Amino acid sequence: MSKTNEFLNFFKLASDSIEDYKLAVIDANYRYKIVSQQYLEGYNLSEAEIIGKSVPELMGNELFGQVIKPKLDRAFKGEVFKFDDWFDFPAKGQRYLEVSYYPILDDNQKITSVAAVSRDITERKKAEEALRERERRAKLQQTAIAQLAIDQAFFSVDLPLALERISKVVSETIEVERTSIWYFSDDHSELKCLTIYEKDKKLHSSGEILKTDAFPSYFKAIKTEKRIYVNDAQNDSRTVELTESYLRPLEITSMLDAGILVEGSLVGVVCCEHIGPKRKWHSDEESFMNSIATIVAQLFVSNERKQAEEEKEKLQARFMQAQKMESLGRLAGGVAHDINNKLNVILGYAEFIKESLDESDPNYDFIEEIIASGKKSTKIVKQLLAFARKQIISPKACNLNEIVESILKMLRKLIGEDIDLSWIPESQVWPIKFDPTQIDQILVNLCVNARDAISGVGKINIETENILLDEAYCSRKAGFLPGEYVMLSVSDNGEGMTKETLDNIFEPFFTTKPVGIGTGLGLSTVYGIVKQNNGFINVYSEPGEGTTVRIYLPHHAVEVREIQTKSAGKIPKGHGETVLLVEDEKAILTIIKLILEKLGYLVLPAGTPAEAIHLAKHHPEPIDLLITDVIMPEMNGHHLANKLNDRYPNIKTIFMSGYPGNIVAHHGMLDNDVNFIQKPFSNKDLAVMIRKVLEQS
Ligand code: ADP
Ligand code: MG
Repeated sequence: MSKTNEFLNFFKLASDSIEDYKLAVIDANYRYKIVSQQYLEGYNLSEAEIIGKSVPELMGNELFGQVIKPKLDRAFKGEVFKFDDWFDFPAKGQRYLEVSYYPILDDNQKITSVAAVSRDITERKKAEEALRERERRAKLQQTAIAQLAIDQAFFSVDLPLALERISKVVSETIEVERTSIWYFSDDHSELKCLTIYEKDKKLHSSGEILKTDAFPSYFKAIKTEKRIYVNDAQNDSRTVELTESYLRPLEITSMLDAGILVEGSLVGVVCCEHIGPKRKWHSDEESFMNSIATIVAQLFVSNERKQAEEEKEKLQARFMQAQKMESLGRLAGGVAHDINNKLNVILGYAEFIKESLDESDPNYDFIEEIIASGKKSTKIVKQLLAFARKQIISPKACNLNEIVESILKMLRKLIGEDIDLSWIPESQVWPIKFDPTQIDQILVNLCVNARDAISGVGKINIETENILLDEAYCSRKAGFLPGEYVMLSVSDNGEGMTKETLDNIFEPFFTTKPVGIGTGLGLSTVYGIVKQNNGFINVYSEPGEGTTVRIYLPHHAVEVREIQTKSAGKIPKGHGETVLLVEDEKAILTIIKLILEKLGYLVLPAGTPAEAIHLAKHHPEPIDLLITDVIMPEMNGHHLANKLNDRYPNIKTIFMSGYPGNIVAHHGMLDNDVNFIQKPFSNKDLAVMIRKVLEQS
């Protein structure tokens, strides 16, 4: 045996005993001369079946020609050649080999064969590849998180946009077809899709709703396990119920669903759905999904906080608006009080002068003008009070048509010339029991709303009608009671309202108008007034179709007493009765004293309650009547009246005030049996009131 052969045999023996190595010696004709045990095992052949065969016979021409031969040839030329690659073994499948070709010299120093030594490093190779793959994923995942962290949608807590970003990033990062984010309804009966991203369509959609009781196993699992990671979703017990209706039609095979937890409780789910061959999820992908679920949870929390803050700001703005209205009201009330006092003085003296003048006197017309203007001013003051919502509410039997007619002119001015206002009264309208100023308030509010709803030219109708509501009608309308009503309707052909607006119009502060224009108090006030008077209100409106507001006011079944406002008749005179007059404003005290004396009363004037008490104490004769202002320093009129009443149980009292009703009401003036006269009053008003009170038993 040549030295060479001896060496090769030794080499074979050695390599047989080293598990990792395979050895083959190939001659210049590419035939196997020697092979080791492991080599045989790789091809599942015996030594006899392989020795003498050529390499291409064993490996196939293609692999031999393209990969093996060029390398072998270099070894035959004397080079030690190393390479590594995947090889397909009939018995073992794909293996990764590290191969070295060593030229072997024969005894004549010629290269007649090559030793191929290969080592199977498949496991190492796979581990390396897995590691590389894991590193690649880790890099993607880190990038994804970083990308989300600097996304503007997160800073501004734009929830819908942020969720879209998340679902897209997740789809791209873990390479799944569909990523969706879902939110539970409060009672957990439904899961609503906030967003779903479909990778191939590059599209977001949302809005789908799943009923939790349709998929009990899934929801039970997500509630208890907080996550569902399945590689065979169509067969897994937790998700099999989704197979027919959902997974199979969409060809979803694997799912990676992570629960969104806020303070430990499940509020939603982030779902990844994989289409294609079943997929085994890597642990880093699972933990990535957990991180994503945490990010979504934080987003929900921030969003809730943001909404709470916005709500707070809105409330704050409303509060400011309400306060502004309140202070405007107070201001208006205060101004009205002052003007009332001045008007009382002006009108009082003017009437005196008028009485002293002959109608042929050139100044007679002038003084009539002064009185007329003064009276007009008192009406303006009343409107100011109506605006301030501070008028005294004193319902009385009245005729709705008359009230509407008295305010029509003002309404026409209010709505402007471009809008046509028509008035269609019921011919014999039933009486109602109402405070006329409240009807004014209703009409002003409804007409202003109608005006605001009309852009450019348009039409407003005001109508009254006697209406009998029967059982059948009322059973269809919540809150309506059968009976006789006077209907007041205000309709417009303006822009109308959506259902959403219509649902909210009676809410205080609800407005669709810009700040400064809308207060949202109009219809809520109207509603309050109508309810307070046992009426109903109904609004019909559709976008583009205009609006009709119908108010039903109960028929007041008693005869209307004619209210003698403008009765001719003479001013009733006094019969020398003693009147204790208390008023802290000097000018008013003087004019009223004058009026009373002219009427034939004996007047004890007092500038303060203390002075009044003092006067009363020292007046030897009985005092018939106390006329007192309500709001005074030291003691209010009501208190003073009580004190004097103890002393003179027969004394009658008239209260007067220029203050708006609510303030007077604070001073005990709401009782029905109280005699109250609102400043400014005409000399005649006062004279009539005094007679009425003195003649009461
Ligand atoms: P404001 O007029 O200050 O907004 P309201 O309580 O009077 O407050 O009205 C509330 C809302 O109802 C309005 O902002 C408007 O959106 C709606 N609305 C009321 N009346 C009408 C109407 N005639 N036509 C259309 N919308 C109306
Ligand atoms: Mg309004």
